[in-house]
Amino acid sequence: MAARVMVRVESLVKRYGRVLAVDHVSFTVDEGEVFGLLGPNGAGKTTTLEILEGLRRPDGGRVEVAGHSVVDDPRAVRTVIGVQLQEAGFFDLLTVRETLETFAAFHRRGLPVDQVLERVGLRDRHRVLVRNLSGGQKQRLSIALALINDPRIVFLDEPTTGLDPQARRNLWEMIRQIRREGRTLILTTHSMEEAEALCDRVAIMDRGRLLALDRPDRLVAEHAPGAWIILELPYGLATPAAGLPVPNGGPEPGAEPLSDRLRRLPAVEAVSVPEPGGPTVLLRTRDATATLRGLSELQAAEGLAFRSLRVEQASLEDVFLQLTGRELRE
Ligand code: ATP
Repeated sequence: MAARVMVRVESLVKRYGRVLAVDHVSFTVDEGEVFGLLGPNGAGKTTTLEILEGLRRPDGGRVEVAGHSVVDDPRAVRTVIGVQLQEAGFFDLLTVRETLETFAAFHRRGLPVDQVLERVGLRDRHRVLVRNLSGGQKQRLSIALALINDPRIVFLDEPTTGLDPQARRNLWEMIRQIRREGRTLILTTHSMEEAEALCDRVAIMDRGRLLALDRPDRLVAEHAPGAWIILELPYGLATPAAGLPVPNGGPEPGAEPLSDRLRRLPAVEAVSVPEPGGPTVLLRTRDATATLRGLSELQAAEGLAFRSLRVEQASLEDVFLQLTGRELRE
């Protein structure tokens, strides 16, 4: 059976003065999906999310959430969605429990406060003042507030920005749990890694436009097939500033530079040296197996012993680079 569409966005437009923040964006989100809006600063992710939440009015297009128009029926939309409160919205002098009880009172229906505390791992912190929580705990409280009205759709705006790796992983697990309960999740992130780890599908946005939309693995297969081979050259070989690896003391007269030989290996598309003079060389390959075979022949023929060699599949980072010509950095 086809999944039910929970969110339908058709040709959405939003302008701020002369800035076209959202430029004819269309997508749908199915029930039970984790859907990611991904892009650099200013891409239009938050604006899109806030329109879906009924917090901003669109200038054009149509948006339906659980079958309700966000413009014509924002009250109905509010009863089915859960929105993460940003830290600035907290009352520092309330305890965790008081905060949840206060927000629970805004809703006609909801989950018991204790159940939500348990779910986000804040049960033993329920008497603590909000201002004394760590960054990760505040973030968990903001997710608790998004769940308090037992929503069908949960919106999270950059849920893990600023968290340390451990707190980030805890939050990922919480997001997976919310999904297992059958809720639909829509989140924004700058992090390609986060999108790959959590999202069933991602919409890549840049400068208000939607550039691509699909499952992360399909986006990689379509836009950035292949892999990176990361080599550390043997001692005695260095990569001078020009980026061409040569034996210390310069190449032997007439010898073909190693970089050229690497470039000619099967399936290699590009060779680069991320740190001028450093021992690391990156090979971009369409087919890692073919390149590795060539590399091992080269090693045997030249008696080279690479200090390390690893293969990384291309990622959404590479997709973004391919689509925009720019790197996406957190
Ligand atoms: P970030 O990751 O930095 O939050 P974003 O992808 O969420 O970025 P938006 O916050 O939606 O992007 O911003 C999209 C564009 O609209 C940007 O050019 C931004 O400067 C502009 N913008 C956002 N909010 C306003 C506003 N209230 N008034 C004027 N311009 C705005």
